[in-house]
Amino acid sequence: MNAKPQSGISEASHLSADVDVVLIGGGIMSATLGMLIRQMRPDWSIRTYERAPEVGTESSNAWNNAGTGHASLCELNYTPQREDGSIDTSKAVLVNEQFHESRLFWSFLVEQGVLPTPEQFVRPVPHMSYVSGEDDVAFLRKRYDVLKRIPLFESLELSDDTNTFQEWAPLMMAERDTSRPMAMTRSDAGTDVNFGALTRFLFGALQKSGTDSVHGHDVVNLERLINGGWRVTARDRSTGETSKVSARFVFVGAGGRAIHLLQKSGIEEAKGYGGFPVSGQFLRGINEDLIAMHRAKVYGQPQVSAPPMSMPHLDTRVIQGDRGLLFGPYAGFSPKYLKAGAYTDLLTSIKLDNLPTMLAVAKNELPLTLYLIKQVLQKHISRVEMLKDFVPSAQADDWTLIHAGMRVQTMKRTKKRRGELVFGTELVTAKDGTIAGLLGASPGASTSVSIMLGVLQRCFPNEYAEWKLRLTDIIPSHGVALAENPALLHEVELSTMKTLGLCG
Ligand SMILES: Cc1cc2nc3c(=O)[nH]c(=O)nc-3n(C[C@H](O)[C@H](O)[C@H](O)COP(=O)(O)OP(=O)(O)OC[C@H]3O[C@@H](n4cnc5c(N)ncnc54)[C@H](O)[C@@H]3O)c2cc1C
Repeated sequence: MNAKPQSGISEASHLSADVDVVLIGGGIMSATLGMLIRQMRPDWSIRTYERAPEVGTESSNAWNNAGTGHASLCELNYTPQREDGSIDTSKAVLVNEQFHESRLFWSFLVEQGVLPTPEQFVRPVPHMSYVSGEDDVAFLRKRYDVLKRIPLFESLELSDDTNTFQEWAPLMMAERDTSRPMAMTRSDAGTDVNFGALTRFLFGALQKSGTDSVHGHDVVNLERLINGGWRVTARDRSTGETSKVSARFVFVGAGGRAIHLLQKSGIEEAKGYGGFPVSGQFLRGINEDLIAMHRAKVYGQPQVSAPPMSMPHLDTRVIQGDRGLLFGPYAGFSPKYLKAGAYTDLLTSIKLDNLPTMLAVAKNELPLTLYLIKQVLQKHISRVEMLKDFVPSAQADDWTLIHAGMRVQTMKRTKKRRGELVFGTELVTAKDGTIAGLLGASPGASTSVSIMLGVLQRCFPNEYAEWKLRLTDIIPSHGVALAENPALLHEVELSTMKTLGLCG
């Protein structure tokens, strides 16, 4: 941010703001950004707004996401096959390094007593990939061979042996036809993360350190002030009263609804973005014997023309100490941008600047549209049929459908195709760095620390140069390619495993 220091926030601003920073939305992203800012500038005043009565109730809530600590140990879509048949590992390396940044930041906060005992938000759960059929088995082998050479993936094991499958995933082997070729990889370095609990702990700690946390208030408008900064208008959802606050920096961490607020800000950088809501659904195992038989997160190959976010996975979850079993995701349709959003969300997000983008995506992505329609029309029995690829012995009565969070699929204006889908997170920042907002989901919460470090870097370039030293103390791998620094990698792995209790 290029502004003049008052309470030190930046240079060039003559604004006497009520607060230095406003964070809109009580999810993992605002929580992480607030905590990073607290570490760098404990003297800055921060106000957070959440429309729900509590924080961490939307996508960050444990039941609204899959809780996978994405580290590329099992997600096959992070290692696409190039046209020449070789495996592209760049995304896998990036996501793994980013998850190390998250682990390091959480470890630091545990050591400082800011976060409580880690088992309340992160647990070791093996990560596995599973494929069947000759082509996919060949792909998994190739993927394993190439990843195994990278120090980040040393923990991976590969097997095509039925006895080993039986040991790794007994639930998946019951009543299985073993004549069809299959293969699995496994890493014991995987995790299950309760991002909802983590969000609540971070907000609790922010409040203790003086952050003004306002719940039950919807931010309804953002106006740019002439002398720098923003006026934020919030409406109390129980009384309907509105209040205003001025801030030097605003972060729009409103999840699915971020697009509406970025549009209200009028910043040029937000023009042309559209969002299409896809609701996530899972089958939840309700038979305790089945839950006890499985302990892993097992990711498979997506169906033909399915988007990468819909890779099927069979997941052990640990939520508030209770072990659970989920399979999915399936896609549903709702015009809402939040689970607790409004039916008008989609309609009110359509503007003149993003209509061409949305129409272009509708035209370019016909197979995806057909896939979504098929998903929406699916019945319980056909969902169970899909599950049978993972659990051949599955009985419809042992599983129930649950509704997870909304993913607002980002559509972006592009020169080449007028409009494209963006798989991943998209950080939108104004040129002057006074406002930033986050669109999109995957790999989302797992990489929240790296994404929020990106906000600091882009919005506070002057301060960032100063903060870098302190940040490196907290997150020793920050700015370092761990894949090329095995010594640091081992140090980081050992220390975070010990502090976060991830020793298996
Ligand atoms: C089905 C599904 C599965 C997923 N699985 C994984 C996974 O396994 N691993 C992983 O790392 N990530 C996963 N994700 C992604 C992850 O959940 C998200 O990236 C992450 O939770 C986003 O956090 P957030 O803070 O941006 O949004 P949210 O947690 O949605 O928080 C946004 C908050 O803003 C509030 N808000 C909105 N508008 C306003 C307003 N105007 N005023 C005030 N408050 C407002 C909302 O009420 C909400 O609490 C998954 C997501 C989904 C939907």
